[in-house]
Amino acid sequence: MMICTLCPRRCGVTRDAHSGSGFCRLPEEMLIARIAPHLWEEPPISGTRGTGAVFFSGCTLRCAYCQNGDISHRNMGRTFTPAQLADSLRRLTDMGVHTISFITATPYVHRILETLELYRPPLPLVWNTSGYETVETLRLLDGVIDVYLPDLKHRSEAMGRLCARAGDYFDTASAAITEMVRQTGLPVYSDEGIMTRGTMIRHLILPGLTGESIALLDWVHDALPQGVPVSLMRQYVPCNNVDIKGLNRPITAREYKRVRDHMISLDLPGFLQERTSASAEYVPLFGQDESFV
Ligand code: SF4
Repeated sequence: MMICTLCPRRCGVTRDAHSGSGFCRLPEEMLIARIAPHLWEEPPISGTRGTGAVFFSGCTLRCAYCQNGDISHRNMGRTFTPAQLADSLRRLTDMGVHTISFITATPYVHRILETLELYRPPLPLVWNTSGYETVETLRLLDGVIDVYLPDLKHRSEAMGRLCARAGDYFDTASAAITEMVRQTGLPVYSDEGIMTRGTMIRHLILPGLTGESIALLDWVHDALPQGVPVSLMRQYVPCNNVDIKGLNRPITAREYKRVRDHMISLDLPGFLQERTSASAEYVPLFGQDESFV
């Protein structure tokens, strides 16, 4: 049983083994929706053999347009003990993945630390997050996590509130990303091009909101050391029955070009996503027997 203040919601409620009454509604025991090699992250994370992706159920942000609503909003998943997850991490490692990715794992940070006491994969450990993190919780991961992969989603208070009931999103995520970069420094790559240490920021362009994208890229340029890579994502598709005005369509080629050109003009290193990934087909299978190695 725990009183939870692990994420910026700081609910201060009790989470016991099988239930939780906080914003995330997650219990203390880990709920996991998928554990499998995953090829669709950025090349320095997935390489050619994939990242060993652990998709944790639930989310502390719960964006209205989430592509993975079954796990982030509806907490689909199976209970895992640290010993069971350690066994899964060992199997993923034996399969030859390049990295291990903990995806939206914040509510389970203590359980993950217990897991890594049992088995620490000899691979870069990636913390894949919405960016909505507290500095206090990130400090628990200092020296444990090798690579941070945070989203940077919204610049304005209004969009943070509208999309995720988090008007403090930018203030919180910008402080969190600053802490991540402090911990990891600039990226280091292996001979195979895998990021072994560092922070890479993801930004998903939303329709009609290129001004937000440009303001966020400006923040990366102005506030962080030169050399922190940005992965610019164009695959937004309306998901999860999103009912926010304007978010009912993919972005246009013109919108993408405007943001991409701005990123190039700032000389930010990183990755630009191919158009072919703008499809709900890229949502992996969750919660089935074949979803777990
Ligand atoms: S992890 Fe869940 S219960 Fe804990 S503070 Fe965040 S939303 Fe609340």
